Amino acid sequence: MPERCSNCNTKYKIEPSFFYGAMYVSYAVGIAFATAAFVISYWMIGLSRLNSFFIIILTLVLFLPIITRISRNIWINGFFTYDKTKV
Ligand SMILES: [Zn+2]
Repeated sequence: MPERCSNCNTKYKIEPSFFYGAMYVSYAVGIAFATAAFVISYWMIGLSRLNSFFIIILTLVLFLPIITRISRNIWINGFFTYDKTKV
């Protein structure tokens, strides 16, 4: 992740360990992904509970980079507002 925005030069990490807060968001996003994986594998495909469990683990591992980015985006949007005029 770049330190500053290439467009408007905004510093993303406004204080040391700023993105630690994204861990809390990451928990919620992870639960959403896990719930979706369970609903799809258990109720839609009809796998056993044990296999659904492995599907959830696999989903969380595979989507880790996406979950991390979504969480950081949600977290930073609580502190910065998007300014259309600076684009
Ligand atoms: Zn920018």
